Amino acid sequence: MGQILIVVRTDAGINGYGVGGGGLAGRHVVNSVLRDLLLGRDAEQTSQLYDEMYQATVPFGRKGLAVMALSGVDLALWDIRGKAERKPVVSLLGGQPGTPIPAYRTVWDTVPPELVGQFSAYKLHLGQTPLENLLSRIESARKAIGPDCELMTDAWMKWDLPTTLAFAREAEPYQLGWIEEPLPIDDREGYETLRNECPIPIAGGEHEFTEYGFGDVIRNRLHSVLQPDVCWCGGMTALVRIYEQALKAGIRICPHRGAEIWGLHAIAALDPHPLAESGRPWMTWVLGQPSIRQGTVTLEDEPGFGITIDETTPLLR
Ligand SMILES: [Mg+2]
Repeated sequence: MGQILIVVRTDAGINGYGVGGGGLAGRHVVNSVLRDLLLGRDAEQTSQLYDEMYQATVPFGRKGLAVMALSGVDLALWDIRGKAERKPVVSLLGGQPGTPIPAYRTVWDTVPPELVGQFSAYKLHLGQTPLENLLSRIESARKAIGPDCELMTDAWMKWDLPTTLAFAREAEPYQLGWIEEPLPIDDREGYETLRNECPIPIAGGEHEFTEYGFGDVIRNRLHSVLQPDVCWCGGMTALVRIYEQALKAGIRICPHRGAEIWGLHAIAALDPHPLAESGRPWMTWVLGQPSIRQGTVTLEDEPGFGITIDETTPLLR
């Protein structure tokens, strides 16, 4: 997915860190467009700078890698704001650190026995599973975690409309919290049909971008659960704006990879029903992230995002 580390340095000696996406192409966007826009500016004007970065990349951006790259820069600016004010980002957003947040674990095809009881909920990734095996996978996962633990499933855009509706009808007894991205992301008509006919809530949004893209999804109620990824969707500024719209519309947000440090600050501050998704191994070079223990994850009271970077890792080239 081409995660990129962004470092923004200020004349006051503060290093702001953020993670975005877009790989080498994302790095090109940062170094050839965003860097010049930011040099000499007040780093703490995050909202204004986000709008300018969005406008500067609109002709080739709007969605995809330009916004993924911009996301990392925006996060680095929020890190600077927190460090300058000696407050964690969660406090800048009106919340406070220290409250345990329920965390769910994403697993592929089956819930390994050693993970049972370690998380507040589980999500079964079934995108590549042959159709005839879908229900048996759900059934064995439900047996493994018991009747009272929340279970969700993720199809990663690999199903079609008839499959999704048939699956949803047959999976009803297993009480799934949601079906995530069952259809290709641009099958808008398909999602409209699911909105009207699917008995299980539809989740999605990890491949949607900015408050503009999510605004359309929210207005048309294409998903019941929104999953913006703060490292891809436009950074913290975009995520806050998406939260504002979703809360007004009464639509739940459950950020993609929310237990990673970047999204966790927003969940802790803004989410009335917080649930943080387990992180991915590619973020191991971001040091100081809180671990998930006994099904919850808790932010510490550190300035900014409260992390440092392992600059010796071979993952950073
Ligand atoms: Mg997913």
